[in-house]
Amino acid sequence: MSPDIWMWRANSSGMYTVASGYRKCESLLGPDRKVTREVWNNCAPPKVKFFGWLAWLGKLKTSSYLQRIGILDEAANVSCAFCQNEVESVNHILLFCPFVWLLWSQILKWWGVQWVMPNSVEGLLQWWSFCKMKKLEKVMWKVVPMAVLWSIWKHRNDCIFNGAQPNLEDLCEVVKVRIALWVKSSPAKVEFSINDVVFNLQQVHYCLRQGSWSAVDSGLKCASCSVVHLLVIRSDASEMECCSVGVHRFSGVSGVVVLLLDA
Ligand SMILES: [Zn+2]
Repeated sequence: MSPDIWMWRANSSGMYTVASGYRKCESLLGPDRKVTREVWNNCAPPKVKFFGWLAWLGKLKTSSYLQRIGILDEAANVSCAFCQNEVESVNHILLFCPFVWLLWSQILKWWGVQWVMPNSVEGLLQWWSFCKMKKLEKVMWKVVPMAVLWSIWKHRNDCIFNGAQPNLEDLCEVVKVRIALWVKSSPAKVEFSINDVVFNLQQVHYCLRQGSWSAVDSGLKCASCSVVHLLVIRSDASEMECCSVGVHRFSGVSGVVVLLLDA
């Protein structure tokens, strides 16, 4: 009979390592640990991460919150600045408002992701943190909720304090510009231009999935005519008329190709 020995069960070798200890601690902390990393470990500016953290905790100064603590009086309008139909709570203004729902739907369509709207900002960040992505794709994916939440709040402030009207198209574009600026300012070696991300996000996403930060400029080869084209993609569809063969087809890309240039 062999003598009893000490074994570290969090590591398949039975030996203790700092990395396995760290992983074990993380697993004991549960999903909150992942959400905390989702909020703080991305390339958004610090003030945006701080905002995301407050949103996660449900501690934004919405109209209903300000009324509850007596800063706004009983007669004040605490309706949602976008739909005017519901009291403005954190979850309504950032998730449930029909106007905001359209924005989230648009964003997820870029990634080809289907989802059921989570019931809170916390649920949203948990769902986001558990999505599996490739490494480069993840750099951009992680900053998306921060860009959307922050842009919604800035647009809400614009509507309340500057008399702006809710504008979905502008808001979508601002979200994309913020994503592009923040990713480009990150340590990742990004070669996409801001225009690539704003006007050609689906192809940028396609290139990220292929593990490249810079394939946009080299174009994609059409499966019908075998010519490499630079594409500008706007919405849904995956083919367009080809002068020589009939239809251009680009595998992995969906969207109406509104501009086609030979690369
Ligand atoms: Zn609303």
